[in-house]
Amino acid sequence: MAVMRQRRLPQGNLTLELPIKELTTSSYFSGDRRSRFTTSALPPAPASAGFSGSEHRLSDFEKVKVLGRGNGGTVYQVQHRRTGSIYALKSLISDGPIRRKQVSREIEILRRTDSNTVVRCHGVIPTPSGDVALLLEYMDGGTLESLLAARERRPFPESALACVAHQILLGLSYLHSHKIVHRDIKPGNLLINTAGEIKIADFGVSKIMRQPLGPCVSYVGTSAYMSPERFDPESYGGKYDPYAADVWSLGLTVLELHLGHFPLLPPGQRPDWATLMCAICFREPPELQEAASADFRDFISRCLQKESSKRWSVAQLLAHPFITRRDLSGFDQFREIISPLVTNAEP
Ligand code: AMP
Repeated sequence: MAVMRQRRLPQGNLTLELPIKELTTSSYFSGDRRSRFTTSALPPAPASAGFSGSEHRLSDFEKVKVLGRGNGGTVYQVQHRRTGSIYALKSLISDGPIRRKQVSREIEILRRTDSNTVVRCHGVIPTPSGDVALLLEYMDGGTLESLLAARERRPFPESALACVAHQILLGLSYLHSHKIVHRDIKPGNLLINTAGEIKIADFGVSKIMRQPLGPCVSYVGTSAYMSPERFDPESYGGKYDPYAADVWSLGLTVLELHLGHFPLLPPGQRPDWATLMCAICFREPPELQEAASADFRDFISRCLQKESSKRWSVAQLLAHPFITRRDLSGFDQFREIISPLVTNAEP
């Protein structure tokens, strides 16, 4: 039974680390295929989004370094030759209809978003290889995942966690109020800057909910951070509430920063499908550290309710005492955690 289900779920990203799709610099900056994506074909962006489709050309930018590699392609740090401004340039390879749809969706969502809690997109640039690249706001602190790794996976103090959870909740609140579900919330998709801001990024598998209560059915995203009803939809009637699924992923993300390792498996264990299935769907979430406050315990338990209808919404969580009574020094503590990154942030 388990084997059969496993075969039906080919799109999910099982590992905690994303598979790398290699894109060489030479293939990126050369070639002569025309772009398959024209920004004029997209729905209009909100006037406030500051988003431009054709203002920029690749030749306006100098590549500084590779920032990372995701499912869709490579992300470079680039510098605008005239203004000196630094951006992140995310190439999106669209080989095949599924990827093309994902790329179009990511562009559409970035066009629709205009918030300090979501990474900003300043333009979509056609590349000579026929794909497109997103010109993104540069986040000089990397991701929450890289931050945890940089501090050798030492747990975050609770007051800093309240600040982190609050910022992610504000981002989710913005997205959910615009009927956007992220579907891949995890430490690696939460970008930070050395000012202490956290922004939601990577909308490759996100979705705009066009019907008011239209449930999702597809199996996309990173399996390890999926809620039980997403991981094993068959046991939950085949459909799930994607807003509640984002909340589970948020809870797991915050718990990971509290424990210093992926919460559902022993430290260092590489997940396989069956182990994850047992951990997510059947086992209780792990114990928090002894010193964890009652508010924090309650917050995590509200996020990690296996039954999605019992899980709190983003609006409810924003009113949870762990968030409302958060110590304002938590922001300073978070900034202290990222302070070692400041010197490394220079291009
Ligand atoms: P993604 O393909 O969006 O998952 O990005 C892959 C990696 O590139 C991330 O894990 C980050 O390390 C880095 N990255 C992506 N976007 C940005 C950005 N706007 N600023 C800085 N680094 C980024």
